[in-house]
Amino acid sequence: MSRTQTKKPAKTKKTIKSKKFVFAFGKTTDGNTTMRELLGGKGANLAEMASIGLPVPPGFTISTEVCTYYYDHQQRYPATLRQTVTDSVKSVEKQLNKKFGGRKNPLLVSVRSGARDSMPGMMDTILNLGLNDETVEGLADVSANPQFAWDCYRRFIQMYGGVVMGVTARTEEEEDPFHLLLEKLKHKVHVESDNELSTENLQTLVTQYKALIRKRTRSAFPQDVMQQLWGAVSAVFGSWRNERAILYRQEYGIPAEWGTAVNVQAMVFGNAGDDSATGVAFTRDPANGEKVFYGEYLINAQGEDVVAGLRTPNAIGHLAKEMPKSFKDLEKVRSKLEKHFKDMQDFEFTIEKNKLFILQTRNGKRTGLAAVRIAVEMQKERLMNVETALLKIPAESIDSLLVPVFDPKSLNAASVIATGLPAGPGGATGRIAFTAAQAEKATREGKKVVLCRTETSPDDLKGMLHSQGILTSRGGVSSHAALVARQLGKVCVCGASDIKINYEKKTLTAGKTVLNEGDYISIDGSTGAIYKGMIASTDSEVKRVLEGSLKPTKSYTYELFQTVMKWADKHRSMNIRTNADTPNMAKQAVAFGAEGIGLCRTEHMFFEGDRIDYMRQMILAVDEVHRRSALKKLLPFQKKDFVGIFKAMNGRPVTIRLLDPPLHEFLPHDDVVRRQLAEKLGVPLDFVIDRIKSLHEENPMLGCRGCRLGIIYPEITEMQSRAIFEATAQVLKGKKKIKVKPEIMIPLVGFRAELADQLAIVHRVAKEVMKKHKVRINYIVGTMIEVPRAAITADEIAKEADFFSFGTNDLTQTALGLSRDDMGLFYDEYQSKEIYNKNPFASLDQHGVGKLIDFAVDRGRSTRPDLKLGICGEHAGDPASIDFCHRAGLNYVSCSPPRVPIARLAAAQAKLRNS
Ligand code: PEP
Ligand code: MG
Repeated sequence: MSRTQTKKPAKTKKTIKSKKFVFAFGKTTDGNTTMRELLGGKGANLAEMASIGLPVPPGFTISTEVCTYYYDHQQRYPATLRQTVTDSVKSVEKQLNKKFGGRKNPLLVSVRSGARDSMPGMMDTILNLGLNDETVEGLADVSANPQFAWDCYRRFIQMYGGVVMGVTARTEEEEDPFHLLLEKLKHKVHVESDNELSTENLQTLVTQYKALIRKRTRSAFPQDVMQQLWGAVSAVFGSWRNERAILYRQEYGIPAEWGTAVNVQAMVFGNAGDDSATGVAFTRDPANGEKVFYGEYLINAQGEDVVAGLRTPNAIGHLAKEMPKSFKDLEKVRSKLEKHFKDMQDFEFTIEKNKLFILQTRNGKRTGLAAVRIAVEMQKERLMNVETALLKIPAESIDSLLVPVFDPKSLNAASVIATGLPAGPGGATGRIAFTAAQAEKATREGKKVVLCRTETSPDDLKGMLHSQGILTSRGGVSSHAALVARQLGKVCVCGASDIKINYEKKTLTAGKTVLNEGDYISIDGSTGAIYKGMIASTDSEVKRVLEGSLKPTKSYTYELFQTVMKWADKHRSMNIRTNADTPNMAKQAVAFGAEGIGLCRTEHMFFEGDRIDYMRQMILAVDEVHRRSALKKLLPFQKKDFVGIFKAMNGRPVTIRLLDPPLHEFLPHDDVVRRQLAEKLGVPLDFVIDRIKSLHEENPMLGCRGCRLGIIYPEITEMQSRAIFEATAQVLKGKKKIKVKPEIMIPLVGFRAELADQLAIVHRVAKEVMKKHKVRINYIVGTMIEVPRAAITADEIAKEADFFSFGTNDLTQTALGLSRDDMGLFYDEYQSKEIYNKNPFASLDQHGVGKLIDFAVDRGRSTRPDLKLGICGEHAGDPASIDFCHRAGLNYVSCSPPRVPIARLAAAQAKLRNS
């Protein structure tokens, strides 16, 4: 994926709103945790920690507004900043009785970035600033530890030389030149670890480092500490626009305009001897959410050593043995931080000569499972109320409780060969099958398969059903493969353009890796990663409970899931429906909490067994008589399916959409299947070929599909309506007396007259069936809103419709003029240039398509105030889009069964956020 080209952040010639650029923390503290925008996350939390009495070394934060100013004014600073910084340094000197640049008791500082949202490791940091040839001697004296002082100096030159003066590796193959000198010296004096170097060794290293800088930059390492400070401040502001930071912002949707703050803080030293240490800790386990103290530390080290991995850190629990008093202090801090910040914290600490200091805290990043567990348990501990707990769980996290998961150990050992779009979450491992038939055959032989196709078509459904997962090299997240995979709850990675599938040679190529049919492949539908070989995976406990193979009391994960779902149901106002077209899918969705079916795609019912042949016979028919004859054969199948679905839904509403897709999707593309079809239908092969040719459309997505099918072939609408009403009558009159309220939906309507045309048929058939069976059927008829004209004329269309369901897959396609199946060629570029922040087929384009929806809601309800409104495009399972739907005033969202729990949570969050 090429992401090197990035849009320059828009020039914001914002006037500086706040005249205060620098905020102190320490003895006096100007900021607090609510000031993230101005102080960045780190600055705001340092201020907050200082004000609640935690041991934070004093310092000051230069605000994010200065960053914005810096970029708006050719990298210059506001006129008053220099003096304010000088004064702030003086204030820190006073608090600690040290002098910045002083020979006697020198003050050293760290200079660190801090954006509004944490961007771990993306921007620059400089430690031990304030050392020069004189102050190093002062530090040696005051600490009575020259080795420590010179260790700090060599660290400082190394960091400053790299970050500020640009002395780094010149090629990817080259090693960091400072690191190289360090390693050479260690080798020469026969030591393993950095902290074994003697004072003399370190002095030699400092000389070598300075020489390296002079050689590479033609200037000396700066001895003036104020010059050092400004160099570092500028480097940190500059790092807001380094490549890493830009990439990170793109990935997490952080606006370039936010800018970073700069935190200048007095140094404390974890490398001051064996009574000193430094580490990183989490107040709970970020991987599984368990309430255990989690983290690691190193004795006699600085923070960078923990991350750099040169020495293996110890688990935090071990500190209880090595430094019992400091460990107790740390435990107190852990509890205080959680109580105060009311969330799991990830914090950095340093112990200097047995005294504990806290250098940073932030809400810890966590896995989906951990997010759920932490929220539920913190609510139980009364650290947060239910509403806050609900908002703390990213809605997508629920997925990690439901999908089969890769075993983390096997995952670590596996190698990624390519990456596609994550389209159906979970992990799947199996042997490669390139055709649906091969997938079926291999499954029957007891093998697990991953179906690998350039793209899938309805012909592949059977193969998809048999596969553990589906991988395609073309097609987006609302492509056929993705849509069906999600509905079936299959793992899916689609649009992996870096892999090449050669059906003839039966090979899958990714770079230098060539895999053959039958070889093992693994795909992760939550990340899009594709792995060579086998990775062990396991079914989720929640799924096993819902299916009845595990007792609810035996699964803590299920308890967590149920708790969150109950909370969510209490707090949401939108209903959650599902897109399902078989009784099994419907049952699964109900188990996940679906309150109705919002979209039953009837065309999906025609793929199985003989049906596809009758369907093809119907499409190929040359006249109405032949068409009716094929439809007659299809009717019993449809009716039976509807009966099954109505029973599975047990009185819940069921929206059935009449036939929609372009007919060519049902027709065979390869000669073998065409020949078989001709034989089955008892017609010559040429007839089949000619009919397929005559049905060819250049642009089938905008061709003979949707209500146009029912308008030119009214007998299709008639058959489908009859199947629906006959099924309704049968269930209503059945022993169990199940209520049924079918909602019939007409697709791709753009004109009121189109809807009126189809309505007349539906009502006529309803009357006939009611009369025949002597039952009263309560049904409604509505339409999908899938083309801009329907949205724009919604007041007109509402005169005919009892409900609207926004088909946002097509509405996105038609509003953006963008094929839902063909964006692979340019999508990466669009994303890297930030033209699309998110894939518009995955997350609703709220500014464009959203406006059409708002307009249609308004217009539709102006005609019919009680108009029922829903959405059934893929967006209905996307939390950000669900939030939009809530704001737009929709009554329900309808998503694929596995996304129902996510939608329940997202709907509750939308209500909480917007009320
Ligand atoms: C839609 O267009 O959003 C929709 C649900 O219909 P389909 O995906 O079947 O075209
Ligand atoms: Mg559609």
